[in-house]
Amino acid sequence: MRTPSQFIQSFLFITCFCVGVLGLGLISGCPSPSPVTESRLMLGTSITISLHDKAPRSIFEEIWTLVQDIESRMSINATAYDTTELMQINRSSGQQGVKVSDDTLEVIKEGIRIGHLSDGAFDITIAPLVSLWQIGQDAPAIPGEEEISAILPLIEYSKIQIDSEGQVFLPHEGMGIDLGGVAKGYAAGKIAELLKSRGISHALLDFGGDIAAVGSKPNGSPWRIGIQDPAANRGILLGIIEIADQSVVTSGVYERYFFLDGIRYHHILDPDQGYPVRNGLTSVTVITKDPATADALSTAAFVLGLEKGTTLIASINDTEAIFVYEDKQVFLTDGLQDIFELTSEEYAISPSAYRE
Ligand code: FAD
Ligand code: MG
Repeated sequence: MRTPSQFIQSFLFITCFCVGVLGLGLISGCPSPSPVTESRLMLGTSITISLHDKAPRSIFEEIWTLVQDIESRMSINATAYDTTELMQINRSSGQQGVKVSDDTLEVIKEGIRIGHLSDGAFDITIAPLVSLWQIGQDAPAIPGEEEISAILPLIEYSKIQIDSEGQVFLPHEGMGIDLGGVAKGYAAGKIAELLKSRGISHALLDFGGDIAAVGSKPNGSPWRIGIQDPAANRGILLGIIEIADQSVVTSGVYERYFFLDGIRYHHILDPDQGYPVRNGLTSVTVITKDPATADALSTAAFVLGLEKGTTLIASINDTEAIFVYEDKQVFLTDGLQDIFELTSEEYAISPSAYRE
């Protein structure tokens, strides 16, 4: 017979053994450790980081400091910041170039690269149009046609000048850069890099629906990422995609919009026409390695529509896309057939990547 104190000693020993093993993550038999998760509201969205490897709690301070740093360089939200590098570039348009940090320069260059690849469907000089429409702000309104026509000549990413010292110059007064379509992905990529440099091999980063996966799940299986049903309440899924060490980024009509006379005016703007894109799409999801590229490409493919969008996606290695239409048809690029599972009965996968 064991005495009560021997029972307590045995219990403590087993508990300590399990905790030690869990901490090292070496032996199965004890349940696997649950992820350590933190969330913050940053970059105008909700960001959640889930670490599935053991890491010091202080890593979260590093993460939030880095995201804050990116926001404080690249935001154009004048209610949050007096000045940022982006605001300086925009305020100096038509006058002089502004020297920016390597981070900001990298994001601007990625924006320009996707601008070229998409033949201008993705255009980071969209800022004057974004501020004209005010979609997602307190008082959005449909601008007059003359106002839109006056602004359209300012929207031209190929006019951005970058000199050898890293100065960015917008040659016409009134031009402006908005990195809203690419910088969230860039931030996710920077956090993924930080985690990997700290030896973390299993983590999931959710930047307001822009997902970046570090490695696989700890047991080696892929992450199962839910794709939002664009026509349903948040959290209701259209399907699930399985990925490891990749990013899954969606651009859609359902987060920032207003309705007027039965028409939805959303935040993805056509740089040629000056109006929210109306091509029947409700969302485009892009799956690729780099989250900044996925972010920009999802916006670009949305603007381009299915035919040109799938051509763009097919031209880039290891990149796939899901196009979702308001009539509930879903189009998948070839590499997704085995890793995407449609879970909503309201939708159907179209056998062809091209709509009639
Ligand atoms: P995406 O499709 O990835 O991007 C759409 C956005 O890109 C639009 O909102 C517009 O900004 C821009 N865009 C529209 N059309 C085009 C086009 N044809 N080509 C290129 N770009 C286009 N939001 C707030 O409400 N408050 C904030 O304080 C705030 N701060 C931010 C700070 C930073 C650094 C960044 C990057 C974003 C911030 N946002 C803020 C914006 C917010 O997070 C946006 O909702 C988000 O960037 C849009 O991302 P998305 O994934 O929903 O859509
Ligand atoms: Mg985007």
